[in-house]
Amino acid sequence: MHLNGHYDVVPVGNDWTRDPFGGELSDGWIHGRGAADMKSGLAAQVIAVEALRRTEWRGRIVQSAVPDEETVGVENAGMGFLVEQGRLDGADAVIITEPFGPDGVGIGHKGAIWGEITIFGKQAHGSSPRLGVNAVEAMARYLATLDAELRPKLDERTTELGVTPPEPRSTLSFDTIRGGVATNIVPDRCTVTFNRRLLPGEDLDGARRELLAPLEQVRHEYRELYATEPTLVGEEEPVVQAACRAVRELGLEPRLLISAGSDDQRFVVHRAGITNSLVYGPGTTALSHISDERIAIEDLILGTKGLALILDELLAV
Ligand SMILES: [Zn+2]
Repeated sequence: MHLNGHYDVVPVGNDWTRDPFGGELSDGWIHGRGAADMKSGLAAQVIAVEALRRTEWRGRIVQSAVPDEETVGVENAGMGFLVEQGRLDGADAVIITEPFGPDGVGIGHKGAIWGEITIFGKQAHGSSPRLGVNAVEAMARYLATLDAELRPKLDERTTELGVTPPEPRSTLSFDTIRGGVATNIVPDRCTVTFNRRLLPGEDLDGARRELLAPLEQVRHEYRELYATEPTLVGEEEPVVQAACRAVRELGLEPRLLISAGSDDQRFVVHRAGITNSLVYGPGTTALSHISDERIAIEDLILGTKGLALILDELLAV
């Protein structure tokens, strides 16, 4: 059994009303950057394993705490590196204790492409635009075409699974744009960056084709900064079944979830080939990556008990 979590956190950002690194305890909450995502998940592992050690059990548990999860790369120096080094070889099951909540059973995540598209035109004097090819205007036409033709299709693709944060659709968002150097020059290039999120069942090549179809007759350059296929493991996997039983033992109804983001489960499933894996841990994604990040102590205790019960389900003699 391999238990994994990341110890890196996202930057602090603005508008905190507490010390982001104070670990302040008040009114039943623990406050601070990483309180939910995911120092609590790491703490839950230590305590759940200690609880198991006081019972009759067999097997072997390896715990890893890794960096580089929040930086989001095709490769990473955390779980990606562990898998590459063979540190997960022989593991029968993997649990990543991201903050999906004491009743949340995470069976995958959306795929993603973060990329950059540049459309090229031809520079000309701003007084005679017909002598050039305006790349900013070409980009505007491209974005309008996608809006009219691709976006309605993406909106129709949804999943029945719970998604956290809640976005059950396939999505595309253009997040930065730059083009032109001065108002008296017809711009010869315009660049956008985009963020495309894929539901399980979609694939990267299909998403790329859809995105680039309107550019067949347009001089352009396409570059990817990050790409991962969607990840989804079966509900019949033993660790998923054990988690559902454990959640019921807590008196809660299990919620099968995928993450709208992507996480280190991608390395476990796609690189190490371990489908008997899931995400289960205390805290909520809604209170992660925000100012005044926090976790309810009750949530932390419940999630820790849930994790201990999963270990007991799978490893008890
Ligand atoms: Zn996380």
